[in-house]
This record gives sequence, structure tokens and C-alpha cells, in this order.
Amino acid sequence: MSQHVAVVGAGVIGLSSALLLQRSGYAVTIIARDFPGPFETMDPTTKINYTSPWGGAHNRWVPPHPSLPASLEREHAMSLRTFDHMKSLHASHPHTAGITFLQGIEYIESPGPEYLALSTPSNPNALNLPGFRLLDASELPADGKVTWGCEYDTWCVNPMVYCSFLLRRFVHRGGRVLQRELRRPEEAFSLLASEGEPGRKIAAVVNASGTGLVPDPAMTITRGQTCLVAEECDATVTRQNADGSWTFCVPRGFEGGTIIGGTKELNNWDAKPSMEVRARLLKRFAETYPKILGGKSEMTVIRDIVGRRPTRDGGPRVEGELVSGAGFVMHAYGLGGRGYELSWGVAEAVVEGVERHIKGAESKL
Ligand SMILES: Cc1cc2nc3c(=O)[nH]c(=O)nc-3n(C[C@H](O)[C@H](O)[C@H](O)COP(=O)(O)OP(=O)(O)OC[C@H]3O[C@@H](n4cnc5c(N)ncnc54)[C@H](O)[C@@H]3O)c2cc1C
Repeated sequence: MSQHVAVVGAGVIGLSSALLLQRSGYAVTIIARDFPGPFETMDPTTKINYTSPWGGAHNRWVPPHPSLPASLEREHAMSLRTFDHMKSLHASHPHTAGITFLQGIEYIESPGPEYLALSTPSNPNALNLPGFRLLDASELPADGKVTWGCEYDTWCVNPMVYCSFLLRRFVHRGGRVLQRELRRPEEAFSLLASEGEPGRKIAAVVNASGTGLVPDPAMTITRGQTCLVAEECDATVTRQNADGSWTFCVPRGFEGGTIIGGTKELNNWDAKPSMEVRARLLKRFAETYPKILGGKSEMTVIRDIVGRRPTRDGGPRVEGELVSGAGFVMHAYGLGGRGYELSWGVAEAVVEGVERHIKGAESKL
């Protein structure tokens, strides 16, 4: 009989982890308070702490560099693995998975060394990024403030189309789901002992609860305000301004409009969107990439969005822990603003962690 693993959380991290565990032969149950559903009816007053619906979500390459925290190396490797998974899912399900492959454009007003190192005369594509090309000065925004730009191949997802696809796939392959609210990840061991298949041993619990559900002083949130507009855009464009602010767009595809963003506000718990912020985001993006207007004077707003990125000082926690009196918990939380772009890399690390634990436990028998 296959071993049983419980995954706490049905955001992009829990769903990706559940699917890879299932593919590795485990019987998997997802336990979560929130599950994917149509974005159009997703209520921010009750779902603000479920981050996955409110993400963009695109992949933008974040280059590691010796001047930056070493954890970025691991994250970059995870983003490459995610790119490969997205590519194959898109190839096999081009019309249903909610994934779009498109051009990514970066504009930076004052680039750090990690960006300058991406392309040098001797090494024009140092990280070997797909489709990478340095932009010429004539291709930068007209205001003259951007000093460095590049383009590359990347992907975007329509988050709730994509997450619903993952959930359907999981259930179609025999996965079980339970809608419950837990106080701690290890509660899943006793919950499944009473509600799961009698006699089946729970080998591990995966903690993909977003903010962690365990005391972790490194955890907080980063508020993000964006605006969904009806206009389509041919690329995902990101501009880093010299004052630290961001101007970006993420086309969602699948008739999902385009996200115009966005703010990154550490420790700000305000759930209400600001109309001044909305006006500023739309104006700045139209100035940066006027093509989105298609000759009109303004964009058509569908709705404002506020989300809480589950942010962890020092990077995501992707590691196992033997919880005394309960069992093995594989943590996968604190993905901040990168949950989608690291998702499959995190899921692979989750499977490795669970397998290492099970092999270790078996060798002690
Ligand atoms: C404005 C904005 C823009 C973003 N843009 C991008 C982007 O472009 N690219 C990108 O990669 N990322 C982006 N992100 C970040 C991304 O959305 C998150 O990193 C990702 O959604 C986190 O997923 P998760 O599965 O860890 O957490 P969540 O989506 O929050 O899921 C957590 C799961 O755990 C469950 N849970 C929590 N507590 C309990 C409990 N007590 N009992 C039972 N279940 C529980 C929840 O119900 C849910 O199912 C953005 C985020 C925001 C807010």
C-alpha cells in the first residue's frame, strides 16, 4: 500500500507539491481552508489571507550575485526548474492550463551589479537565460530615466485558471481534498487518522500554508496593490524606478485582462485599495509602455486588488522538521512575491525532503 502524505494548503505551493508527491507514488490528501475558484467571484474581504488569487502572476528572472544573499542561488535554480515544468504543461495543455509564454521586458533606472553582470562584452548572456537580449538605448522608455533594459522569454499564468487546473488534475488522478481550518500543521496527523483511510499510516505532512502556521519571527507580509484592466498586452513589462518603486504589467491571458502594478509594502496590513495609488500605477505604466493604450487615452479598470505576499526574512522556509509527538513536517512557506515562479522547484524540494525522511525512517527499522 502506498504511503500517505497530507499537504496543508491549496495555494500554488500546496497544489504543485501535492501533484509531484502523487506522481512519486504517494497517496495524497490536501487539507486547506481555501481552495481555488473563479477569480471573478473571489471575495477579498474573506480571502485576503489566501495569496494565490491576488498574485500577477509572471516569472521575472532575479539574478543571483556574490553581492546578494546566497539564498538567491537556490531560488534561481528553482525558477529554472519551474520554467521547464511550465513549458511542458503549456505544450501538453495550451488551452486549459492558464499558462501563456511571452516576451519579458525589464527597464531599470539604476541597475545593481547583478543586472550589469548579466551581459558583458565577453559574455553577452552570462546566466544563459532563454531569449536574453540587452536593449538598445533607442528601445528604452521615452522619459530618458531608464539606463538599462533587457528582454527574455518567460511565462505568465492566469492564477485561478492555473490553480484550478492543478486542483482538477490532482483530483482526477485520485487525490483527496478536505476543507478544514487547522491551528498547526501537525494537526493534520490526527485529523487524517480520524478522517482518512483507517489503518493507513501518514508518513509526512507538508506545510504549504503560505505564512507557516508555526511561530516564526522571520515571517511577515508584504502588501501589494495592483489594478486589473481589460486591455491586453503583448509582453510582461517590469520597471524598477530609482526611488525603489515598481511599475509593471502582467497579462493574465485567457480573457483575464492585464494586471498593472504595483506596490510592495512590508508589514502593511491595510486591506483596502487606495484610489490615489490606482491612479499613480495606471499613469506610470501608460507612460512607460504607451502601447498598452492602443491609441486610447486611458485603460479600462475591472477591479483593484490588494494581496499579502507571505514574506520571510532570509527567504522561503523549505526544510523538514521532526515534530515531537507528531511526526515529520516538511515546511514550504514564506514564498513572498515569488510563489508562482519558484513553485515547481519548491515542489521538487518537498518530494526530496519527504523521500529522504521516509528512507531514513525505513533504514532505522
Ligand atoms: C499583488 C501580488 C502580486 C504577485 N505577483 C506575483 C508574480 O508575478 N509572480 C509570482 O511568482 N508570485 C507573485 N506573487 C506572490 C504569490 O502570489 C505568492 O507567493 C503565492 O501565491 C504564495 O502561495 P502559497 O501557496 O505559499 O500561499 P497561499 O496562496 O496563501 O495558500 C496558502 C494555503 O494554505 C491554507 N491555509 C492557511 N492557513 C490555514 C489554516 N489555518 N488551516 C488550513 N489551511 C490553511 C490556505 O487556505 C491556502 O489554501 C504576488 C503576490 C501579490 C500579493
